[in-house]
Amino acid sequence: MILRAKYVLPDNDKLIENGAVVVAEDKIINIDSYPSINHGKSEKVYDFGEAIILPGFVNAHTHLELTNIHGQVKRTKNLADWLMQLMEIRDWNEEIVERATSEGIAMSLAGGASTIADITNSGWSVKTLKKNSIRKLVFYEATGFEQKRLLRAIANLSANLGTVQPDALLTFGISPHAPYSVSADLYRKCRGIALEKGLLMCTHLAESESELEFLMSGTGAFRNLLKRFGIAVDNWRPPRQTPVEYMSSLGVLDCSPLLAHCNYLNESDIKLLRASNANVVFCPRSHNYFYHSNHPFEKLMQVGVNVALGTDSLASNDSLSMLDEVKFWGRTQNCTPPETLFSMATLNGAKALRLYGQIGALLRGWQADIIAVRIPPISEAANRGTTLKREVIEKILHDESQNVFTMVAGKICYNLEEGVVQHVFHDEKEEE
Ligand SMILES: [Zn+2]
Repeated sequence: MILRAKYVLPDNDKLIENGAVVVAEDKIINIDSYPSINHGKSEKVYDFGEAIILPGFVNAHTHLELTNIHGQVKRTKNLADWLMQLMEIRDWNEEIVERATSEGIAMSLAGGASTIADITNSGWSVKTLKKNSIRKLVFYEATGFEQKRLLRAIANLSANLGTVQPDALLTFGISPHAPYSVSADLYRKCRGIALEKGLLMCTHLAESESELEFLMSGTGAFRNLLKRFGIAVDNWRPPRQTPVEYMSSLGVLDCSPLLAHCNYLNESDIKLLRASNANVVFCPRSHNYFYHSNHPFEKLMQVGVNVALGTDSLASNDSLSMLDEVKFWGRTQNCTPPETLFSMATLNGAKALRLYGQIGALLRGWQADIIAVRIPPISEAANRGTTLKREVIEKILHDESQNVFTMVAGKICYNLEEGVVQHVFHDEKEEE
């Protein structure tokens, strides 16, 4: 199968005009200008015309099982209040979660994500995820702040990890939820399991100022939240550390974790992250939803910390579309070059999920995880004063750009223009 478009953007460094990608089974076997590739006699050509073919986006942080909660939680600056609302309205069972997950997968594919890192608290979403052709790293979530919850949390994790088998498109990780919902011992146990089984570990970290207060002095919104749930917190002794220092002291930073958010970091936290192999996921629209102050992603990237992008859940976002996510982020700030945004949404995500070498760029021998984004035309005159590659990437961020095609491991998972004859035709040479 050949995918063809006016532009092919294999990675940050290269642009191919009138480009094509040749796919066989699950892999990319050639990528070049359309006239230079070898055409098989009966090869099907998908010609996307005024569009860009690029690597599928990697959504490095989401919770698909919350897809049906969209619009039900009142927006607030207070994360603890938001969590309280979420717990109160969340009325779920296996059927509800399966439906929410199915809808979430469809929205993800339509929005250009070929890979998702999804966190499941219920465990009910996994069968639905397994059945679907999207590439996914599924984190089983663990919570337990009191000592008496420790054994149950570990038993749940062990049981979940044996329930569904991984496959070529499905890998598993574990996710101790956050420092205000997970005890130090449970973090240490999760770290042990992650290292023993070679699993990626994810945790929500330094997401709100209330979390910093709770770890520093044991007071504030999270103390109140725990008390409302009847969790004994009176005798708990706060570590008097920042969230990053705390994770470092528990050994969590040693196992190349995926750290969701990291909105509030000081200089010494950034040094600790730099010295570790931790990866950070930044969720721009969720960040905006909670009215957080500026995210330190540029500082992190300057010192060499890998930063990926995620949508978070629909409980704090308007869509699960990664294209919407990069468009929003491109609109909101103007300091970061669009090439950097493109890397954050593709290759950085692949690195964070330990999938580098398979996905995140379009290269021969890599997995055929490919999207096609239709863009407004680039005029000849507009090419002056900047590179064409820059203009093409900027067009991805344009309001009118639209994802029309998502392929995962060589399989078409979303095709907006299916049936539109002029975009699907046989090899021109064969027809001559
Ligand atoms: Zn999250």
